[in-house]
Amino acid sequence: MTVVAFVGLGSNLNDPLWQITTALDELGALSEAPLQASPLYGSKAVGPGEQPDYVNAVSRLETPLPAPSLLAELQRIEQLHKRKRSQRWAARTLDLDLLMYGDAVIRDPALQVPHPRLAERPFVLYPLFDLAPALQIPGVGPLRELLRACPRDGIWALQDD
Ligand code: AMP
Repeated sequence: MTVVAFVGLGSNLNDPLWQITTALDELGALSEAPLQASPLYGSKAVGPGEQPDYVNAVSRLETPLPAPSLLAELQRIEQLHKRKRSQRWAARTLDLDLLMYGDAVIRDPALQVPHPRLAERPFVLYPLFDLAPALQIPGVGPLRELLRACPRDGIWALQDD
């Protein structure tokens, strides 16, 4: 038995395009069906201070793993990227968020799905919509409605070449 899970990817350091494309390959190894990936987006960093722009994407996996084991695998991949090509030990070399895990609603601080900040992040909602426009977010509502409330500000499509 497998569960459909969506994972959000973000990077703004140490060759973000490379970080995201290699992470997509690594995520593919966790999926029993071929991994589906959204187009790549650029986004403005949110929060205080000057920060480089982000590269973002969302992927769709079919995983046999229970949710905590899948999160552990995502954290393993993040760690791998801190070691690779890192001039600095920076937090955002690669950020992987488990956005959804089937119909599960989990509210443990160590693992919250659907991801609690999903609805306010255009760099998550728009690539998620590219992959699954009819998606229902458990406990939240239709993805289409979330998009309506979240302007497409501060993100742009990147050419994947
Ligand atoms: P961050 O690096 O800011 O994404 O935060 C990572 C922390 O958030 C870790 O301690 C995780 O256990 C916790 N966490 C809770 N829910 C999730 C989720 N859905 N995806 C990724 N990390 C999560």
